[in-house]
Amino acid sequence: MTRNTVGSRFDAGAQYLAGALREGTGTETFDVVDPSDGSLVQRVRLASTADVDDAVAAARAAFPAWSNATPGTRSDALTRLAGILAERADDFARVESAQTGKPIKLSTEFDVPGTIDNTAFFAGAARNLEGKATGEFSGDHTSSIRREPIGVVGSISPWNYPLQMAGWKILPAIAAGNTIVLKPAELTPLTSLMFAQACTDAGIPDGVVNVVTGAGRTAGEHLVSHPDVSMVSFTGSTGVGKRVGELAVQSVKRTHLELGGKAPFVVFDDADLDAAVNGAVAAALINTGQDCTAATRAYVQRPLYDAFVAGVAELFEQVRLGDPFNPQTDLGPLVSFRQRDSVAGFVERARGYGATIAAGGYAPEKGHDGTDLTLGAYYRPTLITGIAQDAEVVQSEIFGPVLVVLPFDSDEQGLRLANDTPYGLAASAWTRDVYRSLRATREIKAGCVWVNDHIPIISEMPHGGYKASGYGKDMSQYSLDEYTQVKHVMQDITAVARKDWHRTIFGDREQ
Ligand code: NAD
Repeated sequence: MTRNTVGSRFDAGAQYLAGALREGTGTETFDVVDPSDGSLVQRVRLASTADVDDAVAAARAAFPAWSNATPGTRSDALTRLAGILAERADDFARVESAQTGKPIKLSTEFDVPGTIDNTAFFAGAARNLEGKATGEFSGDHTSSIRREPIGVVGSISPWNYPLQMAGWKILPAIAAGNTIVLKPAELTPLTSLMFAQACTDAGIPDGVVNVVTGAGRTAGEHLVSHPDVSMVSFTGSTGVGKRVGELAVQSVKRTHLELGGKAPFVVFDDADLDAAVNGAVAAALINTGQDCTAATRAYVQRPLYDAFVAGVAELFEQVRLGDPFNPQTDLGPLVSFRQRDSVAGFVERARGYGATIAAGGYAPEKGHDGTDLTLGAYYRPTLITGIAQDAEVVQSEIFGPVLVVLPFDSDEQGLRLANDTPYGLAASAWTRDVYRSLRATREIKAGCVWVNDHIPIISEMPHGGYKASGYGKDMSQYSLDEYTQVKHVMQDITAVARKDWHRTIFGDREQ
């Protein structure tokens, strides 16, 4: 399968402003690299702060007309967008795999269809803003609610699911009538730019969707602090999220922060062991573990512990690493050599503390298809046991194909350990006992709790965190609500000049 299909499409530049690609005016360039072999995919001239100003100005200019367009008009445009994305699905999948290294079967079966479905969902949701019923709550006034767009949204996205993250940020924002400037991660800007181009081709007016490809510290911080940006929506690590929040609060912007995760996977002793083992392998390794909801800490009740570890270790060994463009490849490289080295560092430190590496724990040399994996940022699926709850690999986000397994005895202990990290994005409970399931779903502090599965997401339901995983919901009607502000309109219906409540000022004097 052809690897790099980017071709000459970004010759005009990798900034998308007011409906067209153009060259950045920053002093630095950035090489977007295929992490499976280190080859250059696209050299990009990064955005300067002046480019960010231009993008915000374009978004600001487009706001009055777009925010006043009828919901039906916005919905129609998003419906056309869903159709265009479907026509270009193969192209999107290939470029996504080239810039991230993710297996083509993942791009084709998950990233691209997920984004198309999300687009179709927001096409419908655009016509379904909800609010309280209008009424005469005081008796003397008619009160009604307006749900209005906020203005220019400044969004910043990570590199793990670049296309899906572009969709999660752009779609609810524009469905609600806002305009947007998105800054994708430096490593993976290309499908966000293609998404913006598709928006234009769908008839979404110039300036409604803009993409600046720039560095976090310069373009990102400038965008977040910009006085003409009214809302900041960020997905990324908790550390950078805190910085973004600090900057945004200086100008009292609305913030939406989707941050890191360290999802627990709790297996009770009545669970279907086979389902739990298969589920853990798939949920730990999806997207080479670079998934904020990936299963990272399995807590297994003592009677099942040994069999669970043996089962996962066996399946980890069977996972096929190789060329991401080979449809048989299960696992690609990490997104970059830096990320691979970071993952390897966590594993080495755990090894140094005496942990057992029950599978993996090294960078492999040959792929299942003969690919020379030493050219890429590959790392074998790694299973770690024999480690304490306060160990770094249990507490910190690794963001790689690494699963840690710990035993527990009582149900209370299992649920307490599941909650014992700063994060709270997602979790799963594995049991056939309805009472255990209800207790786990109530007691686990996370924005999503699965029962007997781990990973699936759907456009109709929200995704977002508790605790240090941030706040704000992506997808679903909840996210649409976040990109609107609520206005109460209260109209007098008495036509009386001196109202009853004026007594607080005028006392009992006659008018
Ligand atoms: P990151 O925090 O390093 O970068 C995210 C984005 O922030 C990038 O676009 C980057 O350029 C930008 N950035 C960096 N420094 C900045 C600054 N000072 N000001 C403004 N912007 C800045 O995260 P990453 O490494 O790209 O992605 C991985 C992280 O994203 C993980 O922690 C993962 O859990 C998280 N994530 C969360 C969700 C979620 O929905 N909660 C989804 C996907 C990824």
